[in-house]
Amino acid sequence: MEKLASSQTDLVALLAENHELIDENRRLREKLQKTERFERYRLEQTPMGDFILQLKDKHVTDEEPTHAICTYCREEGKLSYLSEGSHRYRCRTCLRSAWIKPVERRPRSRTVRSGI
Ligand SMILES: [Zn+2]
Repeated sequence: MEKLASSQTDLVALLAENHELIDENRRLREKLQKTERFERYRLEQTPMGDFILQLKDKHVTDEEPTHAICTYCREEGKLSYLSEGSHRYRCRTCLRSAWIKPVERRPRSRTVRSGI
């Protein structure tokens, strides 16, 4: 009888361990899937020296046109699309910019200068 009780205790421990392993496996699979999303992108430098992650050519399709994502958000595990303007890419999530070319600044007006 004592042997039976001991076997039941072992079985309960094994079931608990099995449950933990299933949980861990699920967590690792989710983590891997999140990481794999970013393998479709390559690091690219803009003419102004900033970095973006550009979708690799082999992944560009009619349903997924060429686009870039944010390198900063990627570090946080987030996939954030960049909007592309004439001077810069801009992340809609963290609001950081990756500059393509400098903005030409207009000379300041005299009224602003006289205030200094
Ligand atoms: Zn971002």
